[in-house]
Amino acid sequence: MSVLHSLGASPRKRLGQNFLHDRNIASWIVEKLEIGPGQHVVEIGPGLGALTEEIIRWGLSITLLEKDRAFAKYLREKFERPNVEVIEGDALEYDTRVEFLRRPAKVIGNLPYYLSSALLFHFTADPCPFEHMVFTVQKEMASRLSATPKCKEYGSLSVIIQRQWQVTRLKTLPPSVFLPQPQVDSVVVSLKRRMPGAFEEADAGEFAALVKAGFSERRKQVRNLLSRFGDPEQIEIALLAAAVAFTARAEDISIEQWIRILNVLQPPVIYGSNPGELLSVVDQNDEPLEPLARATIHRENLLHRAVHILLVNRRGELLLQKRSHRKDRFPRRWDSSAAGHVDAHESYRECAMRELLEELGVTATLAKIGKIPASEATGREFIEIFAGIHDGPFHWNQHEIETGGFFNLKMVDHWIATRPQDFAPGFVECYREVRVPLGDLIVRAREESG
Ligand code: SAM
Repeated sequence: MSVLHSLGASPRKRLGQNFLHDRNIASWIVEKLEIGPGQHVVEIGPGLGALTEEIIRWGLSITLLEKDRAFAKYLREKFERPNVEVIEGDALEYDTRVEFLRRPAKVIGNLPYYLSSALLFHFTADPCPFEHMVFTVQKEMASRLSATPKCKEYGSLSVIIQRQWQVTRLKTLPPSVFLPQPQVDSVVVSLKRRMPGAFEEADAGEFAALVKAGFSERRKQVRNLLSRFGDPEQIEIALLAAAVAFTARAEDISIEQWIRILNVLQPPVIYGSNPGELLSVVDQNDEPLEPLARATIHRENLLHRAVHILLVNRRGELLLQKRSHRKDRFPRRWDSSAAGHVDAHESYRECAMRELLEELGVTATLAKIGKIPASEATGREFIEIFAGIHDGPFHWNQHEIETGGFFNLKMVDHWIATRPQDFAPGFVECYREVRVPLGDLIVRAREESG
């Protein structure tokens, strides 16, 4: 508190300012983030630096997000080092996408309680660059985050967060470890990102909408709350498929069952992907030869055709997709907005339109902006590159795509330069080839938005 005095400040309730004064606990919390060399840490609401002091010992780079102007200034002076960045502002406005360049990045914070759930949703939103977070939250929030079916705290927050994150309650902290003391106990929780495949895939937006509808009136049977997702008969079929009783309430339904219900009510559309499919085979001049099966083409290293599609939005950002862990080539790498092999008897342009629909569930006006000759770097593919403008929303083909997001070109340039291993090599080849016309398209897209 003496620091507060010297700053001429007093704790602001409106900003949820309760300061941890027990160094042992601060050090224990930081230890739970399991940080190691070369990592980057983002701290939400560092206040007077109780946790920061402990993180700094690890010699890592840190970003501090603090809304209180006086504290931001104090932190800047106190931790003046090249690897410490202090951002004065609302952590809800922090663009988490920049952290893809600094992976593995982790998040920590004794959260301001008035904003905990909004902060949780912001920092876990897809595309999410973080794998591990440690937060101190109000006890009641910790109970909701970690609740299991049939508990009274089990609600939409528990289900939506736990689908992608493993939540563990680590320790209860009494009010006395903070100044001023909050009214209630606090709990330190850890959130670790689940590996892809832990649960059946589901469309994140639709999943959240379904679960929120199911929990909208806790005392009602869930079958009466899901009318937006199907007629009564379809809902009964979905409940049966998920082994959920017709009389069940939302609190009785596990995460696996929620996913099953969604995927029966709204079956994911799975296109193509037939291993015997015939693809266009070409000669050195890209002239078509006899079509052959994809497996034969790859086994015999034959020249063939592919398209890459790059979509930009009216904010001037490029859509990238993250390939599914199920892909045989370059799983979990970032790639063009959509891409694929040209089928037998299909033109490059027809293929581009088909891939856009199959992978992203959308159509768009596409312009050809480049072509790359076949080489070892392209996987023996002649590639035509198409581009278009689209703001989404997209319906990711869940069998092909883990997630996706828009990124500005400066960030993509920097990302490719610093972490080329994050990308499918075909995308990097295409991006380099069309970086200039893509920049022009972005200027046009921005103009369209006025
Ligand atoms: N980390 C410090 C500690 O443990 O002693 C302070 C924790 S205090 C519970 C919450 C901190 O979050 C305060 O410093 C407050 O100013 C800051 N804060 C409140 N709202 C914020 C926001 N929207 N964005 C960033 N920081 C915020």
